[in-house]
Amino acid sequence: MGASVGAQQVAERFAELYGDRPEGVWAAPGRVNLIGEHTDYNDGFVMPFALPHQAVAAVSRRDDGVLRLHSADIGGGVTELSLDTLAPGVDREWTAYPAGVVWALREAGHAVTGADVHLASTVPTGAGLSSSAAVEVVTALALNDLFGLGLQPWKLARLCQRAENVYVGAPTGIMDQTASACCEQGHALFLDTRDLSQRQIPFDLAAEGLRLLVVDTQVKHAHSGGEYGKRRAGCEKGAALLGVDALRDIPYAGLDAALARLGDEEEVVRLVRHVVTEDHRVERTVDLLRSGETRAIGPVLTEGHASLRDDFRVSCPELDLVVDTALSAGALGARMTGGGFGGSAIVLTEATDANTLTKAIREAFTSAALPTPRLFEAVPSPGARRLS
Ligand code: ADP
Ligand code: MG
Repeated sequence: MGASVGAQQVAERFAELYGDRPEGVWAAPGRVNLIGEHTDYNDGFVMPFALPHQAVAAVSRRDDGVLRLHSADIGGGVTELSLDTLAPGVDREWTAYPAGVVWALREAGHAVTGADVHLASTVPTGAGLSSSAAVEVVTALALNDLFGLGLQPWKLARLCQRAENVYVGAPTGIMDQTASACCEQGHALFLDTRDLSQRQIPFDLAAEGLRLLVVDTQVKHAHSGGEYGKRRAGCEKGAALLGVDALRDIPYAGLDAALARLGDEEEVVRLVRHVVTEDHRVERTVDLLRSGETRAIGPVLTEGHASLRDDFRVSCPELDLVVDTALSAGALGARMTGGGFGGSAIVLTEATDANTLTKAIREAFTSAALPTPRLFEAVPSPGARRLS
């Protein structure tokens, strides 16, 4: 699959479906999280960057309270909805993502009177690369521009998160939508999920002779939803036992003392240790990148994987296989990315070693009788924008 769909192709399909040219075409990318996993619901730090893979939407306004939706990637025709009937928790189809954005905008008092939407995306779905946020953010940005709402990208991200949490009913943090809306080319985005402050951190891999590979294992272990809930509840328990609002409030320097206070709460100890060390790893990564020591982030990524595997316990054999194989074959660093129990891993490597690593990972999966993973290069790409 190529990384991008052409604006013209999407506009032409829109015209076939709806009988007229669209008023505009917008794009919003998927994202990969460089470091900062399971920190978002602990008020902590994350550091995603935008993929070249993106959702592209052709959109026109309507003034009759009707929303028409079509995706090139889903079988089926145009779905027609009446804005007055949009309500959370009802729609179980893909249309809940864009319709949820319209609902969230209207609920926040913004005058959106209807739209025709056709979209096509190259973000792999369910691979932990945030295809859902790409669909939400591209819809929100198009409506923001067309209806002159004047909302800042971070604010659009908030409304998209509300669409996903309340309308779709998926309990996600703010990272995915903020990454899709706010990332910049050649940068990773440092995001403080407590106050939503953000900083663009230079992350130009090509200029340094480096590559970052995304390895989509194409597995999704079925129990992931319940396990996510358990981890979240365990973190909340840890914060309550330690008397803080969120685990973000435990300073790295005070970690040992905090763990000692938790005594024999073995599971909570592991969860707290992951979250506090992971926030610290994000800060170390920021410092290293700002001082131009890009290669030195490799071991920090690898430490993050060990912590997710051993302390947070959200890895799985397929993700461990990617990481172990990549490191044995000479990678600078590797870790699972996303919530875990499947999805994708990332591998940081010298550009000159990328082919050897790719081959080694494919062979390891073949030897283990596992489906061949999907591999692609992640170039830090622009966030959501208007294409035409
Ligand atoms: P991800 O990690 O990819 O975000 P999610 O389960 O959060 O996984 O979101 C995937 C869902 O988003 C899909 O099942 C579908 O409903 C919706 N979606 C993503 N991309 C598209 C698309 N191109 N067209 C229609 N719906 C899409
Ligand atoms: Mg998603």
